[in-house]
Amino acid sequence: MDDCLFCKIAAGDVPSNKVYEDEYVYSFLDIDPKAPTHIIFIPKQHIGSANELDDNNAEIIGKIFTAISKVAKEKGFDKAGYRIVNNCGEDGGQTVGHLHFHVLAGRSLQWPPG
Ligand code: 5GP
Ligand code: ZN
Repeated sequence: MDDCLFCKIAAGDVPSNKVYEDEYVYSFLDIDPKAPTHIIFIPKQHIGSANELDDNNAEIIGKIFTAISKVAKEKGFDKAGYRIVNNCGEDGGQTVGHLHFHVLAGRSLQWPPG
């Protein structure tokens, strides 16, 4: 998508602090962190939200969660624990229209969230 911020970040056209990259997944630090560690994981392919997942593209979710597991171990926040968040749509709090998962770590997190 030409006008998508996260597509531009994945392509390197908008700078980001890269955490992880493979053929399918790109990961970078959130610009406005909500926890001491706040990393965003996205598919390189443009998918607008979780609502756009179907049998043809859902394999990407396994690739993203595998990348999260790898990064958690590399960074060492696997032991204390962390939260994976997907905001979907307006009521879900989604502000960027490219599927992404937030990984929050480094502090004890409230449940349920607001
Ligand atoms: P959402 O609210 O859609 O679930 O999450 C979007 C996230 O993207 C927010 O946490 C916001 O801080 C982050 N974000 C927005 N613009 C940029 C940017 O240009 N660079 C980076 N690294 N993060 C961004
Ligand atoms: Zn996109």
